[in-house]
Amino acid sequence: MMPRSRRTWLWGVLLVLIAVLLASLIWLVGRYEQSRFEDRLEITASDLAGDIRAKLARNAQRLQALVERETPNWQWTAKELLEQQPEILSIERRSLSFNILAVRNTAFLPRISRQGVFEHFGRHNFVVDVMHACALAARSLEPAYSISYFVPQSDGTGFEVTDMCIPSFENNKLTGYLVATYSLDRILKEWGDASIKRQEEISFREADGARLAVVGSSIKSGNKFAAQTVLNLQGMTLILRVESWRSAPYWLANTPTALVLALVLALIGVLWLLYRDTRRRMRTEAKLAREIIQQRKAEEVSRQSLERLQKSARLATLGEMASMLSHELNQPLAAITSYASGSLNLLPSDANSIPNAQDLYELKIALERIASQSARAGQVIKSVHGFVRRRETERSFVQPEALLDAVLPLLGLQAKQLGVRIDRQIQPHLPKVWCDATLVEQVIINLARNGMQAMDSAATPAGKRRLTLLAKVSEHEPSQDANAVEFQVIDQGPGLTQDVTHRLFTPFFTTKEEGMGLGLSLCRTVIEQHGGSLTYTTNTEPPRTGTTFRFKLMTHHDNLSNTTA
Ligand code: ADP
Repeated sequence: MMPRSRRTWLWGVLLVLIAVLLASLIWLVGRYEQSRFEDRLEITASDLAGDIRAKLARNAQRLQALVERETPNWQWTAKELLEQQPEILSIERRSLSFNILAVRNTAFLPRISRQGVFEHFGRHNFVVDVMHACALAARSLEPAYSISYFVPQSDGTGFEVTDMCIPSFENNKLTGYLVATYSLDRILKEWGDASIKRQEEISFREADGARLAVVGSSIKSGNKFAAQTVLNLQGMTLILRVESWRSAPYWLANTPTALVLALVLALIGVLWLLYRDTRRRMRTEAKLAREIIQQRKAEEVSRQSLERLQKSARLATLGEMASMLSHELNQPLAAITSYASGSLNLLPSDANSIPNAQDLYELKIALERIASQSARAGQVIKSVHGFVRRRETERSFVQPEALLDAVLPLLGLQAKQLGVRIDRQIQPHLPKVWCDATLVEQVIINLARNGMQAMDSAATPAGKRRLTLLAKVSEHEPSQDANAVEFQVIDQGPGLTQDVTHRLFTPFFTTKEEGMGLGLSLCRTVIEQHGGSLTYTTNTEPPRTGTTFRFKLMTHHDNLSNTTA
């Protein structure tokens, strides 16, 4: 598993990366929206400029009708035109020397008298601007505009205006001028109002940015966007500027941005789920690891307690054996003592006399008996020594008969004491079995001892006390145990009562006075550790009494038998 600090670090990096990614995404969408919006403003501005230019040109065409000196009903035509075009404040016909020949003022400004916008300040004050425009118009043979100027009114207000001058020719000779005075405010109001939206403003400005006329919203909150275009007219240049204020988070306004936002939220959700899932998984893994460790510990404890039990069982066996051993050793020792004293008697007491040939022969026999008796005693001691010494729990391939042969001398001691005959039935050419020889020998000893003790009662007459130790190739369940050797310990005792079978393998259950009640449960544990099971049946074959305990050992080395005991 990855170390915790590194995992935290990686999560941190991931979160930072995603935060940066999302921030850039939102920023880009914002930028995109902003530039889209500015594009729209620019289009509005340039469209409006084109529109104003076209409308001024159309007005100029209509005004052309009033240029001719002999226009019938000049006043009436001018009045009609002024009514249709509220952006024009007045129309004047002027002579070559700029004298006003005829004038008509708009009727749309109620506060303005019939003298028009120039009443208060005097038209003559602005005649220079008119002359400039007309000079340009005469030279270029088309309408020209004066630079814009402010005309104050008596009530403190005023108009920013521009004069449009149209020259009049007769037979290619300049004969006079027609001057139309436009209000810049009214141009914006009449022609620009329709193209602006809420929170937008259109203005005419000078090149330095000074505002000349304005129309539109007075609410100016939020971010400001602006676009401007140059309105070039003959003799005059104006800047047309469109400004917009947007307070709402504009990147929420349309589908792609809403989609991006939804994606962002979804991503955050997925990340959170991922984080939760990972945490849960890690917790489970940690718990599992803890459980495995605990289980290992428990196994270790049970292994140790099994070893302790085996040791105490072994000591119990030894205790029992010690008495039998002294009994068993008594005989050869007594025999040796009597042969030794007999031999002494055969030897002459006098140092100079020589024993006769007969005495020497008997002496030889006595010494041979002594030798054989002490060999017998040695054999007994050796078998006990071998049993006690082997403590390592190591597995190896062992010949089945070797297992039985190893325990026979020891069993022989008790068999003799209890008057039991031990039968050894071993099928020839048995394969070797994979086992811990010491433990399996202990099992056979326990089973055999139980069997012999079961026959130690009046129920089994002395002649019938027979214990059979059997080893053969396993016949049952060929698919499963084809490679196993079956061991059986068969007694001719009274069999197991129902009460006993219920608690047979329960530790410390015993029916014997000096029993420990551990033998069978130990046997079963050992056999199960070897991958088999310890079973028992009541004998049905003649002579139909007694019990058979059986178990199997594998002849190969597989995973089960590989586990250390
Ligand atoms: P212990 O031999 O110390 O009593 P065991 O666990 O070996 O402990 O045996 C438990 C009990 O099972 C014995 O006390 C005995 O009553 C019964 N038992 C075991 N083997 C046999 C057998 N072959 N025949 C009859 N009873 C048996």
